[in-house]
Amino acid sequence: MKGQKCLCKVCGQLVTPTPAGTCPLCGAPREMLVMQRDKDDEENDLKK
Ligand SMILES: [Zn+2]
Repeated sequence: MKGQKCLCKVCGQLVTPTPAGTCPLCGAPREMLVMQRDKDDEENDLKK
């Protein structure tokens, strides 16, 4: 992987996950990290 950014739903920051897949800022589990893609399709899951 090359600097895949994720949006952390806990601290609200765009972060690069640790090798363990957790948030480097607040330590949130990877379930709380939303992969950022070219499109915003992912966000639709949350608002439904
Ligand atoms: Zn976080």
